[in-house]
Amino acid sequence: MLNFLGKIIIQGDIVVKTGLRIGGYAGGLKIGGVDLNVITTPEGKPYIPGSSLKGKLRSLIERKLAAENPQFWNVKDNKGNIVGHKCQSSEEYQLCPVCKIWGIAVTEELNVPTPTRLIVCDAYLDDKSITPQMKDNLELPYTEIKFETAINRLTGTALHGSLRQIERVPAGAVFKDAEMIYNVFDEEDKNILKNIFIALELLENDYLGGMGSRGYGRVAFQNIRIYWNKRENYETGEIDLIPERVLNQDLGTTPAEIVRNFQQLIEKIA
Ligand SMILES: [Zn+2]
Repeated sequence: MLNFLGKIIIQGDIVVKTGLRIGGYAGGLKIGGVDLNVITTPEGKPYIPGSSLKGKLRSLIERKLAAENPQFWNVKDNKGNIVGHKCQSSEEYQLCPVCKIWGIAVTEELNVPTPTRLIVCDAYLDDKSITPQMKDNLELPYTEIKFETAINRLTGTALHGSLRQIERVPAGAVFKDAEMIYNVFDEEDKNILKNIFIALELLENDYLGGMGSRGYGRVAFQNIRIYWNKRENYETGEIDLIPERVLNQDLGTTPAEIVRNFQQLIEKIA
């Protein structure tokens, strides 16, 4: 039997710290010469697909939990490489923040409801974050083109034919008012919510998108606002995301601040 207590709405801004590349079509369908494009909306503006952000957050929290409990990573690919985690039993699922929050494919072994708690929406670029000065130096209206080569480590020179043009969202760009929705089905769901903010902290010290080992994709989360729409609010229409309803007033607006003050936050989710 599944209850429904309400929804926690998390909004915030994703600030690009180093050039961000979330791939669109390979092969330069849009612009001649660019080998690797970023994904864009139909208007041609870069965006961050919610699925990319959600998947990255999951992999980071899985890696953390696997470091604490090596058995946690239990899914292998067909070559036998360990690739992640999936609960194998209902008992395990009841104690698993990852499958509860991020979801699990329906399997016959789990004869309990397994609704996904977390929805991550696509995040759109704030035009104003691309300043006129930045525009003067960008190769494209919202993005920069970077040349990358593979280097021959013996000679220190570029491998022949390896020069590629890579499109990326420039440092300083902001994806404003990004949104996540978290469904709360029982009291324990309020406690495990902390994992989302821990995952955001981990992502700030990791990378989003491609080519992270080349320094791409550092991001920061700022201006976080958290709202609690309990079930009764939907019956009375009191679900407006107005400043007076922000739960984390005085508790900070970054992932680290919210993790530090998490206990005070959940006391407000009544
Ligand atoms: Zn699990």
